[in-house]
Amino acid sequence: MEKILDIKDLRVSFHTYAGEVQSVRGISFHLNKGETLAVVGESGCGKTVTAKAIMRLLPEPMPAEIKEGSKIEFDGNSVLDMDEKDLRELRGADISMIFQDPMTSLNPTMTIGKQISESLIIHRGMSKDEAMKEAIKMLDLVNIPNADKRAYQYPHEFSGGMRQRAMIAIALACNPKILIADEPTTALDVTIQAQIMDLIGDLQEKLGTAVILVTHDLGVVADVADRIQVMYAGQIIERGNVDEIFYNPQHPYTWALLQSVPRLDTKNKDVLYALNGTPPDLIKPPVGCPFAARCEYCMGICREAMPEVTVVSDTHEVSCWLKHSMAPEIEVPKVLKRGEE
Ligand code: SF4
Repeated sequence: MEKILDIKDLRVSFHTYAGEVQSVRGISFHLNKGETLAVVGESGCGKTVTAKAIMRLLPEPMPAEIKEGSKIEFDGNSVLDMDEKDLRELRGADISMIFQDPMTSLNPTMTIGKQISESLIIHRGMSKDEAMKEAIKMLDLVNIPNADKRAYQYPHEFSGGMRQRAMIAIALACNPKILIADEPTTALDVTIQAQIMDLIGDLQEKLGTAVILVTHDLGVVADVADRIQVMYAGQIIERGNVDEIFYNPQHPYTWALLQSVPRLDTKNKDVLYALNGTPPDLIKPPVGCPFAARCEYCMGICREAMPEVTVVSDTHEVSCWLKHSMAPEIEVPKVLKRGEE
């Protein structure tokens, strides 16, 4: 498959009064054309910072700093070497982003149709009339009923789910090669969440857009993602395709995330798993495994040295000392075994 995005050794820090917070600590990954990659982890793990770094939306050079040696390549071009003009083109036409709360991204004083038209006029050189016609088509595509009338309404006249659909229409109007969706369903109720995820999946198939789906909730990615990478404390601790992460997870943190997802086969007496403790302070990241303080399988070596990357399959990698040949055998939590009741 052809790569559209290639990230190597990305390191991002924030300079604060308390010290340098190492939010993203040397991550490498790629995105193929037309695929959906889910980036999963709890808040503060670096997933949103990574997404914003890709679009150069961080407040650089202060307080955010993308460290020297980091590489972000979009379609073979270095994003870190782009000037303001290139970046405007990248953000408007090549990579689009949608956020958790559409109300903060939509302009309350402009009609939805006008907001969709804007980028078409700027980046596609359309006339106002052409752009409005296209905006109505886009609203129709994201299943907004009566799109021709809705296009002339303001964001406050839309429900939460419809606002998120309108955001998706704005993001996809210029047919970008990549859509970054940052917690796109967190602010919505469960049925609308499912509809929005289905919509993203459908549009991706129709338009061939590659998607990076950033979320804290592994439950929402099962049906839409091709691959999943799990982040913890600014690092990728496990990555694999959907089946590998859901049915053969290898890292205790991934186990914890999976055990905290509600399942239809959960019995009444089963209580959802809650992971205790907090992630490490990234001003002074631990020398060993960043998950050690919360891990029930922690061994002596875990606190002394960063776990090596173990290749589980061509598509599956994990960073955990439990995969070392000298590690003791442990029993994988039952809830994770395929097909088990
Ligand atoms: Fe737990 Fe050790 Fe594996 Fe880290 S390396 S996840 S502390 S077993």
